Amino acid sequence: MTDVAPQTLATDTAKVNLLGLSESKLVDFFEQMGEKRFRAAQVLKWIHQLGADNFDEMSNISKALREKLKARCEIRPPQVLRQLDSTDGTRKFLIEVTGGSVVETVYIPDGERGTLCVSSQVGCSLDCSFCMTGKQGFNRDLTAAEIIGQVWIAAKSFGQLTAGGPRKVTNVVMMGMGEPLMNFDNVVDSMNLMMHDNAYGISKRRVTLSTSGVVPQLDRLGEYTDACLAISLHAPNDELRNELVPINKKYPIAMLLESAQRYIEGLPDTHRKITIEYTLIDHVNDRPEHARELAELLRDVPVKINLIPFNPFNLSNYKRVSNNAMRRFQDILMQEGYITTVRTTRGDDIDAACGQLAGEVNDITKRSQRYKAQFSQAEPVTIVNQ
Ligand code: SAH
Ligand code: SF4
Repeated sequence: MTDVAPQTLATDTAKVNLLGLSESKLVDFFEQMGEKRFRAAQVLKWIHQLGADNFDEMSNISKALREKLKARCEIRPPQVLRQLDSTDGTRKFLIEVTGGSVVETVYIPDGERGTLCVSSQVGCSLDCSFCMTGKQGFNRDLTAAEIIGQVWIAAKSFGQLTAGGPRKVTNVVMMGMGEPLMNFDNVVDSMNLMMHDNAYGISKRRVTLSTSGVVPQLDRLGEYTDACLAISLHAPNDELRNELVPINKKYPIAMLLESAQRYIEGLPDTHRKITIEYTLIDHVNDRPEHARELAELLRDVPVKINLIPFNPFNLSNYKRVSNNAMRRFQDILMQEGYITTVRTTRGDDIDAACGQLAGEVNDITKRSQRYKAQFSQAEPVTIVNQ
Protein backbone atom coordinates (compact mmCIF):
# COMPACT_ATOMS: atom_id res chain seq x y z
CA MET A 1 0.00 0.00 0.00
CA THR A 2 1.17 3.52 -0.76
CA ASP A 3 2.22 6.14 1.72
CA VAL A 4 0.21 9.25 2.12
CA ALA A 5 2.55 12.04 3.02
CA PRO A 6 6.27 12.54 2.54
CA GLN A 7 8.40 11.74 5.52
CA THR A 8 9.65 14.47 7.80
CA LEU A 9 13.32 14.14 8.58
CA ALA A 10 15.07 15.26 11.71
CA THR A 11 15.99 18.85 12.15
CA ASP A 12 19.01 19.79 14.24
CA THR A 13 16.89 19.89 17.34
CA ALA A 14 14.37 17.06 16.94
CA LYS A 15 15.15 13.41 16.57
CA VAL A 16 13.05 11.35 14.17
CA ASN A 17 10.74 9.02 16.06
CA LEU A 18 11.05 5.76 14.13
CA LEU A 19 8.02 4.25 15.89
CA GLY A 20 5.57 5.98 13.54
CA LEU A 21 7.36 5.41 10.23
CA SER A 22 5.89 3.04 7.67
CA GLU A 23 8.28 0.64 5.96
CA SER A 24 8.57 2.81 2.85
CA LYS A 25 9.31 5.89 4.97
CA LEU A 26 11.95 3.91 6.83
CA VAL A 27 13.44 2.83 3.50
CA ASP A 28 13.64 6.49 2.42
CA PHE A 29 15.14 7.36 5.77
CA PHE A 30 17.94 4.81 5.47
CA GLU A 31 18.61 5.72 1.85
CA GLN A 32 18.92 9.38 2.79
CA MET A 33 21.44 8.33 5.43
CA GLY A 34 23.40 6.49 2.74
CA GLU A 35 22.47 3.11 4.24
CA LYS A 36 21.04 -0.04 2.66
CA ARG A 37 17.28 -0.33 2.12
CA PHE A 38 17.02 -3.69 3.88
CA ARG A 39 17.81 -1.99 7.19
CA ALA A 40 14.20 -0.76 7.17
CA ALA A 41 12.77 -4.28 7.46
CA GLN A 42 15.26 -5.12 10.20
CA VAL A 43 14.42 -2.05 12.26
CA LEU A 44 10.69 -2.50 11.69
CA LYS A 45 10.90 -6.02 13.11
CA TRP A 46 12.95 -4.89 16.08
CA ILE A 47 10.42 -2.23 16.99
CA HIS A 48 7.08 -3.81 16.22
CA GLN A 49 7.76 -7.52 16.63
CA LEU A 50 10.36 -7.47 19.38
CA GLY A 51 9.29 -4.31 21.20
CA ALA A 52 12.68 -2.55 21.02
CA ASP A 53 12.73 1.01 22.29
CA ASN A 54 16.48 1.50 22.00
CA PHE A 55 19.15 0.71 19.44
CA ASP A 56 21.59 -1.20 21.64
CA GLU A 57 19.60 -4.43 21.47
CA MET A 58 19.53 -4.45 17.65
CA SER A 59 22.12 -7.19 17.39
CA ASN A 60 22.02 -7.59 13.60
CA ILE A 61 22.93 -3.94 13.08
CA SER A 62 26.57 -2.87 13.27
CA LYS A 63 27.75 -0.85 16.24
CA ALA A 64 28.70 2.04 13.96
CA LEU A 65 25.22 2.23 12.46
CA ARG A 66 23.60 1.92 15.87
CA GLU A 67 25.62 4.92 17.05
CA LYS A 68 24.57 6.87 13.96
CA LEU A 69 20.94 6.00 14.63
CA LYS A 70 21.20 6.99 18.28
CA ALA A 71 22.45 10.41 17.26
CA ARG A 72 19.66 11.06 14.78
CA CYS A 73 16.60 9.19 15.91
CA GLU A 74 14.68 7.64 18.74
CA ILE A 75 11.96 5.08 19.39
CA ARG A 76 9.56 6.94 21.63
CA PRO A 77 6.16 5.48 22.55
CA PRO A 78 3.66 7.65 24.39
CA GLN A 79 3.58 7.38 28.20
CA VAL A 80 1.22 5.02 30.00
CA LEU A 81 -0.24 6.96 32.91
CA ARG A 82 -2.36 4.10 34.14
CA GLN A 83 -3.26 0.57 33.21
CA LEU A 84 -6.56 -0.74 34.53
CA ASP A 85 -7.47 -4.43 34.41
CA SER A 86 -11.09 -5.51 34.66
CA THR A 87 -12.18 -8.81 36.17
CA ASP A 88 -13.47 -9.82 32.71
CA GLY A 89 -10.02 -9.44 31.13
CA THR A 90 -10.66 -6.04 29.59
CA ARG A 91 -7.65 -3.79 29.92
CA LYS A 92 -7.69 -0.02 29.63
CA PHE A 93 -4.71 2.26 29.19
CA LEU A 94 -4.73 5.95 29.93
CA ILE A 95 -2.04 7.26 27.65
CA GLU A 96 -0.40 10.61 27.85
CA VAL A 97 0.66 12.08 24.55
CA THR A 98 3.08 14.94 23.90
CA GLY A 99 1.70 18.13 25.40
CA GLY A 100 0.06 16.41 28.37
CA SER A 101 -3.31 15.35 26.90
CA VAL A 102 -4.63 11.92 27.72
CA VAL A 103 -6.26 9.42 25.37
CA GLU A 104 -7.69 5.99 26.05
CA THR A 105 -6.96 2.62 24.51
CA VAL A 106 -9.03 -0.42 25.41
CA TYR A 107 -8.28 -4.12 24.95
CA ILE A 108 -11.30 -6.43 24.91
CA PRO A 109 -10.71 -10.20 24.93
CA ASP A 110 -13.39 -12.49 23.57
CA GLY A 111 -12.42 -16.15 23.32
CA GLU A 112 -9.59 -16.50 20.81
CA ARG A 113 -10.01 -12.92 19.73
CA GLY A 114 -8.51 -9.83 21.38
CA THR A 115 -9.70 -6.50 20.02
CA LEU A 116 -7.84 -3.28 20.63
CA CYS A 117 -9.85 -0.07 20.39
CA VAL A 118 -7.46 2.69 19.32
CA SER A 119 -7.81 6.49 19.48
CA SER A 120 -6.90 8.75 16.55
CA GLN A 121 -7.33 12.28 17.94
CA VAL A 122 -7.40 14.15 21.23
CA GLY A 123 -11.08 15.13 21.26
CA CYS A 124 -13.10 15.42 18.07
CA SER A 125 -14.46 18.34 16.07
CA LEU A 126 -17.57 16.60 14.76
CA ASP A 127 -19.69 17.00 17.87
CA CYS A 128 -22.12 14.09 17.57
CA SER A 129 -24.85 14.78 20.11
CA PHE A 130 -24.49 11.47 22.00
CA CYS A 131 -20.67 11.30 22.16
CA MET A 132 -18.52 12.17 25.13
CA THR A 133 -15.43 12.71 22.99
CA GLY A 134 -17.38 15.19 20.85
CA LYS A 135 -18.33 17.16 23.97
CA GLN A 136 -14.64 17.74 24.64
CA GLY A 137 -14.16 19.58 21.37
CA PHE A 138 -11.09 19.10 19.23
CA ASN A 139 -7.63 19.40 20.69
CA ARG A 140 -5.24 17.86 18.15
CA ASP A 141 -4.49 14.97 15.83
CA LEU A 142 -2.39 12.14 17.21
CA THR A 143 0.87 11.50 15.38
CA ALA A 144 1.42 8.14 13.67
CA ALA A 145 3.81 7.24 16.51
CA GLU A 146 1.08 7.99 19.05
CA ILE A 147 -1.46 5.88 17.15
CA ILE A 148 0.70 2.83 16.43
CA GLY A 149 2.25 3.40 19.86
CA GLN A 150 -1.08 2.34 21.40
CA VAL A 151 -0.79 -1.03 19.67
CA TRP A 152 2.87 -1.30 20.69
CA ILE A 153 2.02 -0.56 24.33
CA ALA A 154 -0.88 -3.01 24.50
CA ALA A 155 0.96 -5.82 22.69
CA LYS A 156 4.01 -5.29 24.89
CA SER A 157 1.91 -5.37 28.06
CA PHE A 158 0.83 -8.91 27.13
CA GLY A 159 4.34 -10.12 26.35
CA GLN A 160 3.40 -10.30 22.66
CA LEU A 161 6.51 -8.44 21.52
CA THR A 162 8.98 -11.19 22.32
CA ALA A 163 10.09 -14.05 20.10
CA GLY A 164 7.29 -16.63 20.34
CA GLY A 165 5.17 -14.31 22.51
CA PRO A 166 1.39 -14.91 22.71
CA ARG A 167 -0.65 -13.30 19.94
CA LYS A 168 -3.08 -11.37 22.10
CA VAL A 169 -3.98 -8.39 19.90
CA THR A 170 -5.72 -10.14 17.00
CA ASN A 171 -8.00 -7.27 15.90
CA VAL A 172 -7.84 -3.49 15.90
CA VAL A 173 -10.76 -1.08 15.59
CA MET A 174 -10.22 2.65 15.11
CA MET A 175 -13.14 3.34 17.43
CA GLY A 176 -11.49 5.11 20.31
CA MET A 177 -11.42 8.88 20.65
CA GLY A 178 -11.52 10.98 17.50
CA GLU A 179 -12.59 10.74 13.89
CA PRO A 180 -9.94 8.73 12.02
CA LEU A 181 -10.69 10.21 8.60
CA MET A 182 -10.00 13.72 9.98
CA ASN A 183 -6.44 12.51 10.68
CA PHE A 184 -6.10 10.67 7.41
CA ASP A 185 -2.34 10.40 6.83
CA ASN A 186 -1.37 9.30 10.31
CA VAL A 187 -4.26 6.86 10.60
CA VAL A 188 -3.56 5.27 7.23
CA ASP A 189 0.16 4.89 7.96
CA SER A 190 -0.64 3.35 11.35
CA MET A 191 -3.25 0.93 10.00
CA ASN A 192 -0.83 -0.18 7.31
CA LEU A 193 1.78 -0.85 9.99
CA MET A 194 -0.77 -2.92 11.93
CA MET A 195 -1.25 -5.08 8.82
CA HIS A 196 2.39 -5.18 7.65
CA ASP A 197 4.12 -8.56 7.79
CA ASN A 198 7.28 -7.04 9.23
CA ALA A 199 5.26 -5.29 11.94
CA TYR A 200 2.10 -6.69 13.60
CA GLY A 201 0.93 -8.77 10.62
CA ILE A 202 -2.78 -8.47 11.52
CA SER A 203 -5.08 -9.56 8.71
CA LYS A 204 -6.77 -6.80 6.71
CA ARG A 205 -10.05 -8.42 7.69
CA ARG A 206 -9.27 -7.67 11.31
CA VAL A 207 -8.35 -4.00 11.15
CA THR A 208 -11.36 -1.68 10.98
CA LEU A 209 -11.67 2.04 10.44
CA SER A 210 -14.86 3.54 11.85
CA THR A 211 -16.14 6.85 10.51
CA SER A 212 -19.11 9.09 11.04
CA GLY A 213 -18.91 10.00 7.37
CA VAL A 214 -16.20 12.33 6.12
CA VAL A 215 -17.05 11.53 2.51
CA PRO A 216 -14.21 13.27 0.62
CA GLN A 217 -11.65 11.38 2.70
CA LEU A 218 -13.57 8.12 2.44
CA ASP A 219 -13.46 8.57 -1.34
CA ARG A 220 -9.63 8.57 -1.15
CA LEU A 221 -9.26 5.77 1.36
CA GLY A 222 -9.13 2.89 -1.14
CA GLU A 223 -5.99 4.33 -2.75
CA TYR A 224 -4.08 3.87 0.48
CA THR A 225 -5.43 0.93 2.41
CA ASP A 226 -7.63 -2.15 2.23
CA ALA A 227 -8.74 -2.38 5.86
CA CYS A 228 -12.36 -3.02 6.87
CA LEU A 229 -14.85 -0.20 7.10
CA ALA A 230 -17.48 0.64 9.70
CA ILE A 231 -19.98 3.47 9.22
CA SER A 232 -21.49 5.15 12.28
CA LEU A 233 -24.99 5.60 10.95
CA HIS A 234 -27.25 5.79 14.04
CA ALA A 235 -30.34 6.91 12.12
CA PRO A 236 -32.35 5.64 9.13
CA ASN A 237 -33.11 9.08 7.63
CA ASP A 238 -31.39 12.43 7.16
CA GLU A 239 -33.72 14.38 9.41
CA LEU A 240 -32.85 12.32 12.46
CA ARG A 241 -29.21 11.83 11.49
CA ASN A 242 -28.74 15.60 11.12
CA GLU A 243 -29.61 15.87 14.80
CA LEU A 244 -27.34 13.09 15.99
CA VAL A 245 -24.38 13.35 13.61
CA PRO A 246 -24.06 16.97 12.44
CA ILE A 247 -21.62 16.16 9.62
CA ASN A 248 -24.63 14.54 7.94
CA LYS A 249 -25.82 18.03 6.94
CA LYS A 250 -22.77 18.29 4.74
CA TYR A 251 -22.60 14.68 3.56
CA PRO A 252 -26.06 13.12 3.77
CA ILE A 253 -26.81 9.41 4.09
CA ALA A 254 -27.18 8.59 0.38
CA MET A 255 -23.82 10.19 -0.42
CA LEU A 256 -22.14 8.41 2.49
CA LEU A 257 -23.52 4.97 1.64
CA GLU A 258 -22.52 5.36 -2.01
CA SER A 259 -18.98 6.30 -1.01
CA ALA A 260 -18.77 3.38 1.46
CA GLN A 261 -20.04 0.99 -1.19
CA ARG A 262 -17.46 2.21 -3.70
CA TYR A 263 -14.74 1.57 -1.10
CA ILE A 264 -15.90 -1.97 -0.36
CA GLU A 265 -16.41 -2.83 -4.02
CA GLY A 266 -12.93 -1.50 -4.83
CA LEU A 267 -11.28 -4.02 -2.51
CA PRO A 268 -9.62 -6.93 -4.28
CA ASP A 269 -11.35 -9.63 -2.24
CA THR A 270 -15.08 -10.14 -2.64
CA HIS A 271 -17.71 -10.82 0.04
CA ARG A 272 -16.58 -8.01 2.29
CA LYS A 273 -19.32 -6.20 4.13
CA ILE A 274 -19.58 -2.70 5.57
CA THR A 275 -20.29 -2.73 9.29
CA ILE A 276 -23.13 -0.37 10.14
CA GLU A 277 -22.90 0.94 13.70
CA TYR A 278 -26.17 2.03 15.21
CA THR A 279 -26.15 3.44 18.74
CA LEU A 280 -29.59 2.87 20.23
CA ILE A 281 -30.87 5.77 22.32
CA ASP A 282 -34.07 5.51 24.34
CA HIS A 283 -37.03 7.10 22.54
CA VAL A 284 -34.78 8.75 19.95
CA ASN A 285 -33.91 6.16 17.29
CA ASP A 286 -35.04 2.87 18.83
CA ARG A 287 -38.61 2.43 17.56
CA PRO A 288 -39.74 -0.46 15.34
CA GLU A 289 -40.43 1.97 12.49
CA HIS A 290 -36.79 3.09 12.67
CA ALA A 291 -35.68 -0.53 12.34
CA ARG A 292 -37.98 -1.06 9.34
CA GLU A 293 -36.80 2.17 7.71
CA LEU A 294 -33.19 1.10 8.28
CA ALA A 295 -33.86 -2.29 6.70
CA GLU A 296 -35.33 -0.55 3.67
CA LEU A 297 -32.45 1.94 3.43
CA LEU A 298 -29.77 -0.75 3.45
CA ARG A 299 -31.58 -3.15 1.10
CA ASP A 300 -28.97 -3.02 -1.69
CA VAL A 301 -25.87 -2.36 0.40
CA PRO A 302 -23.59 -5.24 1.55
CA VAL A 303 -23.75 -4.73 5.31
CA LYS A 304 -23.78 -6.32 8.71
CA ILE A 305 -25.29 -4.31 11.53
CA ASN A 306 -23.87 -3.75 14.99
CA LEU A 307 -26.27 -2.32 17.56
CA ILE A 308 -24.64 -0.40 20.40
CA PRO A 309 -26.63 0.46 23.53
CA PHE A 310 -26.08 4.16 24.25
CA ASN A 311 -23.64 4.62 27.09
CA PRO A 312 -24.96 7.48 29.26
CA PHE A 313 -22.71 10.22 30.61
CA ASN A 314 -23.44 13.23 32.73
CA LEU A 315 -23.29 15.90 30.03
CA SER A 316 -26.06 14.18 28.10
CA ASN A 317 -29.81 13.89 28.60
CA TYR A 318 -30.08 10.81 26.41
CA LYS A 319 -30.89 7.50 28.06
CA ARG A 320 -29.79 3.96 27.40
CA VAL A 321 -32.18 1.94 25.24
CA SER A 322 -34.38 -0.52 27.12
CA ASN A 323 -33.57 -4.19 26.68
CA ASN A 324 -37.01 -4.78 25.18
CA ALA A 325 -36.64 -2.07 22.59
CA MET A 326 -33.19 -3.33 21.70
CA ARG A 327 -34.40 -6.92 21.27
CA ARG A 328 -37.34 -5.77 19.16
CA PHE A 329 -35.04 -3.66 16.99
CA GLN A 330 -32.65 -6.56 16.47
CA ASP A 331 -35.49 -9.01 15.70
CA ILE A 332 -36.90 -6.80 12.97
CA LEU A 333 -33.52 -6.44 11.28
CA MET A 334 -32.87 -10.16 11.51
CA GLN A 335 -36.30 -10.97 10.10
CA GLU A 336 -35.40 -8.68 7.22
CA GLY A 337 -32.34 -10.84 6.61
CA TYR A 338 -29.56 -8.74 8.14
CA ILE A 339 -26.74 -10.15 10.23
CA THR A 340 -27.30 -8.10 13.38
CA THR A 341 -25.16 -8.23 16.50
CA VAL A 342 -25.45 -6.34 19.75
CA ARG A 343 -22.29 -4.95 21.31
CA THR A 344 -22.17 -6.26 24.83
CA THR A 345 -20.85 -4.03 27.54
CA ARG A 346 -17.44 -5.08 28.79
CA GLY A 347 -15.06 -3.80 31.39
CA ASP A 348 -17.87 -2.03 33.25
CA ASP A 349 -15.79 -1.90 36.41
CA ILE A 350 -13.12 0.16 34.67
CA ASP A 351 -15.48 2.19 32.47
CA ALA A 352 -13.97 0.76 29.33
CA ALA A 353 -16.68 0.31 26.73
CA CYS A 354 -15.02 0.59 23.35
CA GLY A 355 -16.15 3.57 21.35
CA GLN A 356 -17.87 4.90 24.42
CA LEU A 357 -14.94 6.32 26.24
CA ALA A 358 -16.98 8.17 28.78
CA GLY A 359 -14.33 8.41 31.47
CA GLU A 360 -14.80 12.12 32.06
CA VAL A 361 -12.02 12.93 29.74
CA ASN A 362 -11.48 16.56 30.55
CA ASP A 363 -11.28 15.66 34.14
CA ILE A 364 -8.82 12.90 33.36
CA THR A 365 -6.61 15.46 31.65
CA LYS A 366 -6.50 17.48 34.84
CA ARG A 367 -6.13 14.36 36.91
CA SER A 368 -3.10 13.35 34.86
CA GLN A 369 -1.17 16.06 36.67
CA ARG A 370 -2.11 14.43 39.96
CA TYR A 371 -1.15 10.96 38.79
CA LYS A 372 2.19 12.29 37.68
CA ALA A 373 2.79 13.92 41.02
CA GLN A 374 1.70 10.78 42.82
CA PHE A 375 3.71 8.34 40.73
CA SER A 376 6.69 10.54 40.17
CA GLN A 377 8.65 8.15 37.94
CA ALA A 378 5.65 7.98 35.59
CA GLU A 379 5.68 4.22 36.02
CA PRO A 380 2.61 2.43 34.70
CA VAL A 381 0.26 1.62 37.52
CA THR A 382 -1.88 -1.49 37.37
CA ILE A 383 -5.17 -1.31 39.16
CA VAL A 384 -6.99 -4.61 39.31
CA ASN A 385 -10.64 -4.14 40.16
CA GLN A 386 -12.08 -7.12 41.99
N1 SAH B 1 -15.30 8.93 15.14
C1 SAH B 1 -15.51 7.61 14.73
C2 SAH B 1 -14.87 6.57 15.63
C3 SAH B 1 -14.93 6.80 17.11
S1 SAH B 1 -16.51 6.66 17.85
C4 SAH B 1 -16.98 7.32 14.55
O1 SAH B 1 -17.80 8.14 14.94
O2 SAH B 1 -17.28 6.29 13.97
C5 SAH B 1 -16.73 4.90 17.86
C6 SAH B 1 -18.19 4.46 17.96
O3 SAH B 1 -18.76 4.68 19.27
C7 SAH B 1 -19.09 5.20 16.99
O4 SAH B 1 -19.97 4.35 16.35
C8 SAH B 1 -19.80 6.15 17.92
O5 SAH B 1 -20.95 6.61 17.33
C9 SAH B 1 -20.01 5.33 19.15
N2 SAH B 1 -20.32 6.11 20.35
C10 SAH B 1 -19.84 7.32 20.69
N3 SAH B 1 -20.36 7.73 21.87
C11 SAH B 1 -21.18 6.76 22.29
C12 SAH B 1 -22.00 6.58 23.45
N4 SAH B 1 -22.07 7.50 24.42
N5 SAH B 1 -22.70 5.44 23.55
C13 SAH B 1 -22.63 4.50 22.60
N6 SAH B 1 -21.89 4.60 21.48
C14 SAH B 1 -21.16 5.72 21.33
FE1 SF4 C 1 -16.30 12.33 16.81
FE2 SF4 C 1 -17.04 9.78 16.39
FE3 SF4 C 1 -17.66 11.07 18.67
FE4 SF4 C 1 -18.87 11.77 16.41
S1 SF4 C 1 -19.01 9.77 17.45
S2 SF4 C 1 -18.01 13.17 17.95
S3 SF4 C 1 -17.22 11.51 14.95
S4 SF4 C 1 -15.61 10.54 17.98
